[in-house]
Amino acid sequence: MTRMYNFNAGPAVLPLEVLQEAQAELLDFKGSGMSILESSHRGKEYDAVHTEAVANFKKLLNCSDDYAVLFIAGGASLQFAMAPMNLIGAGQTADYINSGAWAGKAVKEAKLIGRVNVAADCGKEIPTRVPSERELQLTPGAAYVHLTSNETIAGAQWKNFPKTEAPLVADMSSDMLSRPFDINQFGLIYAGAQKNLGPSGIALVVIRKDLAERASEKVPAILKYKTFIEENSLYNTPPCFSIYIMMLVSRWLLKAGLPAVYQRNIDKAGKIYAAIDAGCFYKGTATRECRSDMNITFRLPSEALEEQFVKEASKLGMKGLKGHRSVGGIRASIYNAFPMEGIAALVAFMKDFEKKNG
Ligand SMILES: *Cc1c(COP(=O)(O)O)cnc(C)c1O
Repeated sequence: MTRMYNFNAGPAVLPLEVLQEAQAELLDFKGSGMSILESSHRGKEYDAVHTEAVANFKKLLNCSDDYAVLFIAGGASLQFAMAPMNLIGAGQTADYINSGAWAGKAVKEAKLIGRVNVAADCGKEIPTRVPSERELQLTPGAAYVHLTSNETIAGAQWKNFPKTEAPLVADMSSDMLSRPFDINQFGLIYAGAQKNLGPSGIALVVIRKDLAERASEKVPAILKYKTFIEENSLYNTPPCFSIYIMMLVSRWLLKAGLPAVYQRNIDKAGKIYAAIDAGCFYKGTATRECRSDMNITFRLPSEALEEQFVKEASKLGMKGLKGHRSVGGIRASIYNAFPMEGIAALVAFMKDFEKKNG
């Protein structure tokens, strides 16, 4: 078996142990004579998976019973709509911080639903960055303040979250559980699973339960956080297999420990940034204070060289290094499950490529 070094931004690399475990029990789940794919979502096999997934994520995030851990199909993009639908009360404004393409999408959706104030906008700046707390023009009495903890395309990440009076809501799709943080700063966090947590098409959502009470009776049941809380994400048939994989990933994270995972992530990112900063052939896309530990974005002296870089890396087994089509350049996505050896391979290749083409 040859596994590539998978630098894809999402769907992305998963822990090999998780894939192997899923493979080993695919046909006969724990002696039930059925695959978990074929089991009832109300049966005892799936129930154990679901219960453990909720408990593990609660533990990883260190959240009290004031919060609910939910699994909601539709990925992060559905949360762009669900958050404003549920949380903007009549006559209220929601503050949004625009730091790039993903935040921009969240703003666009929220504007369809309620009144939105863009509290800071550096979404189109190059070098890419997230705003400072001082820049924020927040609305008194705002329903919430929304930010994107890591801009996956721009490679810019919040290192410290702003203190806000209104509940903080965060799209953490590309850095969820890549580092420890205090959940009590947040009213709602959500993440499409396909970056750090599992398969695509589903989001991990964590909400302070009292906020779910805000939703109007006009919001359909399937789009209400309250429904998911009351039914423990089992109002309808959930994406059982995706939740099962997320449960295995949560076990893997608990085994490693979040502080250790974070340390490894910093080490991994640090090695690539050091290679970028070693000369002037490579140029980082994000300002230094905001450099992402998950998505490392950089440019080469020309687009032709970037194309050649991606092609040659691919031949060496390093896949997915092409930057997002909207911005070009190079992007190395190195989520939790990305192995250290892949970092060494990329750094060696970067040095070699510079020597030959610099
Ligand atoms: C990938 C991503 C999304 C979109 O996720 P989907 O699950 O495809 O809807 C949203 N926000 C951020 C920050 C992302 O990285």
